[in-house]
Amino acid sequence: MPSGGGMCRVSRVDDLHHLPGWHLLGSFPKGDPDGVGSWILHHDGEALLLEIPPGLTVQDVETGLSDEGVGLRYVTASHLHEDHFDPEAWKALEVAYKGTHFIAPSDAGAGSETVLKLGGESLWLIKAPKHSPSDTVTVFRGVAMTGDIELGTLASVNDDVARKVKVESMEFLRRFQERTGYHVHTIVSAHLNDFRQGVNWSSLFEV
Ligand SMILES: [Zn+2]
Repeated sequence: MPSGGGMCRVSRVDDLHHLPGWHLLGSFPKGDPDGVGSWILHHDGEALLLEIPPGLTVQDVETGLSDEGVGLRYVTASHLHEDHFDPEAWKALEVAYKGTHFIAPSDAGAGSETVLKLGGESLWLIKAPKHSPSDTVTVFRGVAMTGDIELGTLASVNDDVARKVKVESMEFLRRFQERTGYHVHTIVSAHLNDFRQGVNWSSLFEV
């Protein structure tokens, strides 16, 4: 259970590579300090590929899948900005993985979430536009990948989302645990620059 009165610590980057069920393929484009992570989320033989940044290849994905011995069931991204959703890489994956469900991020208001199952384990895609109209937070195995959503503030690097919608998104995220009864212990941002373990979930969205 959460402890420490809302305190959180920034975790060691090494630990990023040891989150159960979260296989980090790397940061792309390779060598770019502002790159975006791409993960294979997996459980019991089934996988979801999260984030399709420029430079991610079919071979990168194939290697990750075979390392884990899993099949690709879903492909998605946190939002439609080109550093997270590269149309060329997306297309190449569509050609390579015919039976896979491709879930392109869509513009939608706060207040909806999709629950998928990977090997019987729940995975949530939570719509919460704040940084962009298509923002989606992914929750799996107690870890939330927050995309480019800035936590603890209504400010953003752009003004693509109305303040009222941002407030609704933060509130919808804040209530995730009480709504579902599911405990999130770790958060990681798409650019891998915000990684915290032992978080007090609801306090992350106080603005
Ligand atoms: Zn973005």
